[in-house]
Amino acid sequence: MSANPKFLDAELAPFKLLINGRLVPGAARMDVINPATGKPLTQCPRADLAQLNDAVSAARSAFPGWSRTSWDERRRLLIALADALEARLEEFAQLMTLEQGKPLMGARFEIGGAVAMIRAFTEMKIEPKTLREDATQKIVQLRAPLGVVAAITPWNFPMILLMIKLAPALVSGNTVVAKPAPTTPLTALRFGELAASILPAGVFNVITDQNDLGTALTQHPDVAKVAFTGSTATGRKVMASVAGTIKRITLELGGNDAAIVLPGTDIKEVAPKIFMGAMINSGQVCLAIKRIYAHESQYEELCGELAKLASSAVVGDGMDPDTQIGPVQNKTQFEKVKDYIADGKARGKVIAGGKALERDGYFIAPTIVRDIPDDARLVREEQFGPVVPVMKYSSIDDAIARANSTEYGLGGTVWGSNLEQAYEVAAKMDSGTVWVNKHLDLPPDIPFAGAKQSGLGTEMGHEGLEEFTQAKVIHVAKSA
Ligand code: NAD
Repeated sequence: MSANPKFLDAELAPFKLLINGRLVPGAARMDVINPATGKPLTQCPRADLAQLNDAVSAARSAFPGWSRTSWDERRRLLIALADALEARLEEFAQLMTLEQGKPLMGARFEIGGAVAMIRAFTEMKIEPKTLREDATQKIVQLRAPLGVVAAITPWNFPMILLMIKLAPALVSGNTVVAKPAPTTPLTALRFGELAASILPAGVFNVITDQNDLGTALTQHPDVAKVAFTGSTATGRKVMASVAGTIKRITLELGGNDAAIVLPGTDIKEVAPKIFMGAMINSGQVCLAIKRIYAHESQYEELCGELAKLASSAVVGDGMDPDTQIGPVQNKTQFEKVKDYIADGKARGKVIAGGKALERDGYFIAPTIVRDIPDDARLVREEQFGPVVPVMKYSSIDDAIARANSTEYGLGGTVWGSNLEQAYEVAAKMDSGTVWVNKHLDLPPDIPFAGAKQSGLGTEMGHEGLEEFTQAKVIHVAKSA
């Protein structure tokens, strides 16, 4: 890209924080890097502690009024917000590609998904539930909003992961302070501008930081709930940080998802799906396929197919329509992924890719590593990049045991032509979500939760909505 579009012009359309219904400059400014060039794309505001406190205080003041509005009124405003985002889908998609790196098609899909996520939650509602009723008594469970929700998001899906929190929080009557990741703040800030003209002041606030305000936000005594998506390491810090006030939390954390390819699978048919399952968004998906277990009878064939797909994939700037795999999102992650590739080279055999591209930006050739032991770092840890190890197994029980031998339990996939057998294997995987012969299908009305150290609590679906509320049980005796 030689010239940036007008919507990135710091003079014409400066990015602002949203605090108490007002669009305000930050206490300081920070560069946002385009991962396709490694160079600054634009600048955006950086909030300080005083602005964080202002945002929480605005959300707290707005809570009583917002929580008393009817569900229908909140739903109406959220639909207006979804419509406003949809009307500017292309601009938001381009902004996302420029700040995040993903191919424009993927960015369009994400913004479309964000719109759909808001709408899906406007179609859900929590009604009072009669738990017991007889001649003498009635017991009813209500669910009340919690108060101020801190929504903290990572850089891999900046908009969809924000909407997964924002929509259920707002529709159920909470107010929100959002803090996007420091390397992808722009879409959330621009979304704040849309919200400023639709939502009452203080109901939704957006602040940005340089990874320095997370603790202050999660410890804040006026924050009632932290809805966090990010790494397991940061999730542990969040959990420790909320302990002082026993806040409600949902943690959607890291994963090291296994794909088990059962014997007798049509390899030519599934290899492209497995490849994209590992490489989509440059492998930077919590639920990406991060380890592949193939039966010994088909190991050679699967490795060969994956290597072919990796070697022919088009890696490039996400703004180029031919690009299938964009850059890694930021320099820190780029360095980490290169380390994992070095581990793959030392412990296994690289059969495709294996290096960064010789050009500006954080590009890595999609990399397939075979003949690597289970105790290699690339197998044990979450690589979160376009490199995937392929391991051989001889017994299905052994494949399941190895797939489950991790502290993570986010997702997993099973590939095979015998659906009954594949279902049984899926049921034995210690993960919150397992797909059979497909991947990354996440309907907003279906709950999503990580097992083990991949998370705590549920997002999406009615269960996810309820997590933004507190149950209140009222016991009524029918005679005084
Ligand atoms: P990260 O944990 O470094 O950062 C996530 C967010 O937490 C950012 O906004 C960051 O500024 C903030 N943060 C940093 N320190 C904090 C602290 N002490 N307290 C509170 N907030 C703090 O994660 P990342 O590198 O941005 O994202 C990648 C990770 O996210 C991967 O592990 C990936 O698997 C995971 N992820 C999980 C899901 C899921 O739904 N389970 C979805 C997407 C990504």
